Amino acid sequence: MSLPSSIDVAIIGAGAAGLGAAHALKNSGLSTIVLEARDRVGGRAHTILATPDILFDVGCGWLHSADENSFVAIAEQLNFKLDKSHPPWREQSFGEIFPPKQRAEFIKALDAFHDRAEKAATSGRDRAASLYLEPGNRWNPMIDAISTYVNGSELDSVSIIDTYAYHDSGLNWRVRQGYGALMAAYGASCPLAFNCQVTLIDHSGKSVRIETSRGTLSAGKVIVTVPTNLIADEAIRFHPALPAKVDAARGLPLGIADKVVLALDEPQALPKDGSLRGATMRTAMGAYHLRPFGQPCIEGFFGGRFAQELEDAGDGAIAAQSIDEIVSYLGSDFRRKLKPLSESRWAHDPFARGSYSHALPGHAGDRAALAAPVDGRLFFAGEATSPHFFSTAHGARDSGESAAGEVMEALAKR
Ligand SMILES: Cc1cc2nc3c(=O)[nH]c(=O)nc-3n(C[C@H](O)[C@H](O)[C@H](O)COP(=O)(O)OP(=O)(O)OC[C@H]3O[C@@H](n4cnc5c(N)ncnc54)[C@H](O)[C@@H]3O)c2cc1C
Repeated sequence: MSLPSSIDVAIIGAGAAGLGAAHALKNSGLSTIVLEARDRVGGRAHTILATPDILFDVGCGWLHSADENSFVAIAEQLNFKLDKSHPPWREQSFGEIFPPKQRAEFIKALDAFHDRAEKAATSGRDRAASLYLEPGNRWNPMIDAISTYVNGSELDSVSIIDTYAYHDSGLNWRVRQGYGALMAAYGASCPLAFNCQVTLIDHSGKSVRIETSRGTLSAGKVIVTVPTNLIADEAIRFHPALPAKVDAARGLPLGIADKVVLALDEPQALPKDGSLRGATMRTAMGAYHLRPFGQPCIEGFFGGRFAQELEDAGDGAIAAQSIDEIVSYLGSDFRRKLKPLSESRWAHDPFARGSYSHALPGHAGDRAALAAPVDGRLFFAGEATSPHFFSTAHGARDSGESAAGEVMEALAKR
């Protein structure tokens, strides 16, 4: 879509949050446009066909808290099929690699850690979650590994108050055609301007002036939905400056989680929707989903500092690491059976700069600070602003809808 010279509401970013805002404003009578730096919608939701018969969600894949997830109704409306089978996260397909007795000990240690940390969170002191690991417990590195998957970060940089503000109903579903594909369908009816990178939001004048890579436009209201790391790095700037927003964004950095998909020869040798993890006593390790949806592939998941290290090592490093790990678990025969297809490098993605937000210790209040509107003209959404569903796609979408509601309220007050 061509760039208008002026608009009632400009939405910056066509991820779940921006699309949620655009949908909510559809019948408002206001002119709106979504300014998107990429040439596609979805942001951190992106489905690719790694081969004609292997679908891969490079970003989000699970509809967390499915019974409260607003994308469930959207999927049904758009005729996307939902897979409601249970995720294999707490299971292990190859008992001998992580024997049941050891797994039970690990789960017990993990649950005990959560009990301690959750209790501490209710005390109101916002400290690092790592302080609640039992000193000397042999499972600590693996408990930390779980944090790298869930938070994209090790426990030493995770706020306990924020962690336990997250709401998880325990139900996790998937979209058979891909979560990213659902997002693309959801965005198809929105007014979008692609390849339109916003660099400056000048709110010094009567209307807000937005500088983009495709020219300048003025807007009555602006909804900013870009990932926190872009605000923290001032890749998108405000004039006058908004130091409170930059500080809040810095308190909510994006952790790193990366995925890889490997084609699998002779897939019938492995269980459909199986799970594979080693008892390696390391934080630096991948977790594997065998044959997701029965497809002939294995998906690997890496998080935290290890994911950063692998990303920094260059394209192909995540696939190489996962093949080495899988071979060490299942035998050398698997080296010839596995072929790298695709891997993410979200920290190196210029318009994401990470995977999902966590609050640093002492910064649990930053989500509300980031979400707060400025002067009834600048509004903020995105997963990091969600009070209870942060780090998720549905949390992002709902936050966009809320920001659109704030815009309407501000207009009604005039
Ligand atoms: C590997 C991985 C696995 C995940 N797994 C899950 C999961 O299973 N379930 C789940 O619910 N969530 C998951 N997530 C998180 C989920 O994908 C995100 O929380 C959600 O998609 C974020 O949506 P958003 O709209 O806040 O941000 P984004 O999707 O990042 O959207 C922001 C948009 O702003 C654009 N943008 C950035 N800078 C500019 C600029 N200067 N000008 C214009 N546009 C700009 C970006 O290109 C992007 O399109 C995962 C994420 C990753 C990376």
